[in-house]
Amino acid sequence: MVDLKKKELLFKKVSSIQGVGKKLSSYLKTKKIEKISDLLLNFPYSFTDRTKLVKTNQLENGKLITIKLKVIKYNFPRKKNLPNTIVCEDEFGKINLTYFNSNEFYLRNILKLNNWVVISGKVNFFKGKYQITNPDYVTKLDKIDFVNKLVPKYYLTEGLSENQYRKILEKAINNIPSLKEWIPVEVIRKEGFLNWKDTVLKLHSLNEFDKKNSYLNRRLVFDEILAHFISLSKHRSFNKRIKNNVKNFKLINQNQIISNLEFELTNNQKNIIKEINEDLKSNKRMFRILQGDVGSGKTIVALINISNVIESGYQCAFMVPTDILARQHYDLTLKIFKNLEIKVGFLTSKLTSSEKNIVLEKTKNGEIDLLIGTHSLFQKKIKFKSLGLAVVDEQHKFGVRQRMDLSKKGSENCDLLLMSATPIPRTMILCSYGDIEVSKLIEKPNNRKSIITYSKPENKISEIIDIVKKNIKKNSQVFWVCPLIKESKVLNFSSSIKRYDELKKIFKNQVGLIHGSMAKDEKETLLEKFLKKEIKILVSTTVIEVGIDFPNANLIIIENADKYGLAQLHQLRGRVGRGNSQGICILVFKNNLSSNAVQRIKILKNISDGFKIADEDLKLRGFGNILGYQQSGTKYFKFADPIYHNDLFELAFNHVKKIESKKENFKEYETLLKLFDKAEITFSNDDF
Ligand code: ADP
Ligand code: MG
Repeated sequence: MVDLKKKELLFKKVSSIQGVGKKLSSYLKTKKIEKISDLLLNFPYSFTDRTKLVKTNQLENGKLITIKLKVIKYNFPRKKNLPNTIVCEDEFGKINLTYFNSNEFYLRNILKLNNWVVISGKVNFFKGKYQITNPDYVTKLDKIDFVNKLVPKYYLTEGLSENQYRKILEKAINNIPSLKEWIPVEVIRKEGFLNWKDTVLKLHSLNEFDKKNSYLNRRLVFDEILAHFISLSKHRSFNKRIKNNVKNFKLINQNQIISNLEFELTNNQKNIIKEINEDLKSNKRMFRILQGDVGSGKTIVALINISNVIESGYQCAFMVPTDILARQHYDLTLKIFKNLEIKVGFLTSKLTSSEKNIVLEKTKNGEIDLLIGTHSLFQKKIKFKSLGLAVVDEQHKFGVRQRMDLSKKGSENCDLLLMSATPIPRTMILCSYGDIEVSKLIEKPNNRKSIITYSKPENKISEIIDIVKKNIKKNSQVFWVCPLIKESKVLNFSSSIKRYDELKKIFKNQVGLIHGSMAKDEKETLLEKFLKKEIKILVSTTVIEVGIDFPNANLIIIENADKYGLAQLHQLRGRVGRGNSQGICILVFKNNLSSNAVQRIKILKNISDGFKIADEDLKLRGFGNILGYQQSGTKYFKFADPIYHNDLFELAFNHVKKIESKKENFKEYETLLKLFDKAEITFSNDDF
């Protein structure tokens, strides 16, 4: 039976539980437990066996036992550092309870003279006597079932004991409601799922939670994925919407751009341009992601499609993650659009407010055809006269919310093109976007040589420095990447500051340093200097990852290379060799490499295709660690693992598609969405 009133209890704050005050709430909050449902969905990671119920004549040193005892005598010494002891007995003999750092009054209260209690803890032997030191549990006889069993263990924070936590949880469990089923019957049958309530109860009492694919876990995994897809569904239905006006163009701009290019487009590029043109001309809104390795030439593809949209009378927006990248795209665009009647605007946080106002005004009245910029394009005050296409470069650097915001600006006629250098597997694309078309740019531009990758042990640093010297003599530039900013006592990795200091002794003011804790402006100034070749060597943490084009940099040195994922290393080395000369990457590592690390380095040396590298990385490291995934949505999953539960992702995805096509009301799923904190996103954004 469905208990409607009790259902609401699930979403009350934990502080509504009797005995949970401010302090406990704040401890729980550090474990991300705020609502009662969070408490219920926080499962034990293991169990302690307290089933062994013994008498005092069956004691054994070192055993974890549960025992019924009568309190017969206190011994509270007045000397500091001596433990309090309490003598107890049963019908067969005596045993001491020994308490260090304890409070006399507290002990008198929980262990009243002549009362029987249940004690659980480890037995030890001291001065010829058995004792239990700081017992884990002291409970009343009628509460023996709370202790005398497989007792669940939870990840706790300091300040919160297992006993305390379990008491709070027990109150929530005693009030757990039955919920109306949201999983379709076919799935329940096929998977052998229990209802939500029984699933949760079983997971708190059975040792099952570490079995990722048990029917109990899979039920919650499915719930979570379903909630996720439903909350994305509005985003998805965006794709289904019909455009009021299709875009008409005759490729006038496109043909002119292509005839002016200094290079020939690859067939792969040509086909993708065509594919996107067809989307633009169709009456369905485009929702497409263009994936292509670093340097595969995505920008030119986007610009050509942009020129067509502009020919058809619409404006375009091109959004990139950093100011420098925005500036590079802007410069490139001016070059590519050189002979065309296209007005390009540029918007970054660096503009003065009067400059900004001019751009805003021109965007609003349609005098600007293409606006290029950073996050600033999201702002509310930016109004387009008729936005027809929004392009988002390096999409994983932006949140889902931000991507949605930009596409919202365009009303019904706006198509959306995302671009990404991170090859994302299908499950992950499903997770992040739902239904989205994918274009893959696999073919490399003809003149692009693949980067030569070496590995060198740390103790050959002087050889590396010689290579750097030669490189600088040839007037080319060098990236030097270290994992840490400062020296760390804990982590045995190179620090960029230390390396910078050392290189400075050799290369003087030809070296620059850039790292993540520098102010944004400082970083950009340094990158500018590097671009202008005022600096020859740039020592950095991984801040240089995102798509900037440094055509003059040919050598990259990556220290502690085994610390990074393959995809990330591939991204990093993609920073060099973008001009016409050969790019070189040196991976530096400690002498003793694990066999896994050796294998990874081998993969990088032999493979230059980012898609293939991502596949290998996936096999070696599992899902969670790969570059970009964290940002693109996996961190939202509490139970689901996109690799492990691949089948459930497909199942949930197809189910949501069915719900959509039946135009069912998502309100039915509100409880489910609330359980996973998705309700707000889904229901507050009705205009989307
Ligand atoms: P990414 O896909 O990493 O964004 P870019 O679009 O920045 O790559 O392209 C990298 C470089 O390759 C640019 O300098 C660009 O002009 C050049 N490029 C793009 N397409 C081709 C091609 N077909 N032939 C030669 N060079 C090309
Ligand atoms: Mg790019």
